[in-house]
Amino acid sequence: MSEHNVLSFSGGKDSTAMLLLAYERMPDNLQVVMADTGNEHQITYDYVEYVSDWMVAKGLPPIRTVKADFARQIDGKREYVLTKWADKGVPQEAIDRAAAALVATGNPFLDLCVWKGRFPSSKVAFCSQELKQFPIINQVQKPLLDAGDDVISWQGVRRDESLRRSLLPMNELKQTFENGSELWNYRPIIEWTAADCFDMHKKHGIDPNPLYKMGMGRVGCMPCINCRKDELLEISKRFPEVIERIRNWEQAVKSASKRQGATFFAAPSDDSEWSATQTIDVFVEWSKTKRGGRLYDMFRMQNDGPVCSSIYGLCE
Ligand code: SF4
Repeated sequence: MSEHNVLSFSGGKDSTAMLLLAYERMPDNLQVVMADTGNEHQITYDYVEYVSDWMVAKGLPPIRTVKADFARQIDGKREYVLTKWADKGVPQEAIDRAAAALVATGNPFLDLCVWKGRFPSSKVAFCSQELKQFPIINQVQKPLLDAGDDVISWQGVRRDESLRRSLLPMNELKQTFENGSELWNYRPIIEWTAADCFDMHKKHGIDPNPLYKMGMGRVGCMPCINCRKDELLEISKRFPEVIERIRNWEQAVKSASKRQGATFFAAPSDDSEWSATQTIDVFVEWSKTKRGGRLYDMFRMQNDGPVCSSIYGLCE
């Protein structure tokens, strides 16, 4: 029975620092995997390539990319829409529009939302699990475990990121399988600060992801559903094409939804008016306001807003 170190890499400072630590400790037994959500900025894709090239130069295997695929689920949903929605009183026009929209594009983030008929939110946060955790488990960890080997899943979480993460142990046996193989979670930078992570970059002469110097507090999806107000403003100024892409995605997901409504940033409550009006453009306008903006005073997207609550360290 062998043991495999599988390290989840996002292109952010924490997973890069963890990768460098893993290189120091066990360069001969290291697999680095990035789950491509389809909602990353090109700068992050370029950064992944930069780190991967560094690894190859050091004699390590390159970073492996995995992707979720929702084509089967979308086909099933289209069938359901065509055969069941009429019985539920959905108007034919909405059925036709949804059926036409339920076509897989190959972009995991968009396809996931089209399938679900909605965008994820911090309350219904299915994105990290569906786009990152499951592809890494199914495409990388499971084959190793099925072969009877043990997997150590390296996760770049830090205690000072959130209350939930502050309670995590450094080592944890996640599961023992019938064939005797074991899946372990290992969080070697759990006690580190953000400064420690940047110091690790310096030590190895690796640049951090350039997005940090462009006003982004976290690196991952662009935008993330947990994006801060000031980050959204920066994105809209620097990368208007990202806003345009989200605008198009809102239309696509809206068409596929039963309510014919979907917005990238979720409503603070179950507000049926919200989905019709609160588009990405409304949020961009709000991000330009100095304090809150009266409509969103109670909204979560403040500058000290939440981080992804996933405990797997797949999202910063
Ligand atoms: S929590 Fe944010 S970064 Fe993570 S998958 Fe969801 S949108 Fe992407």
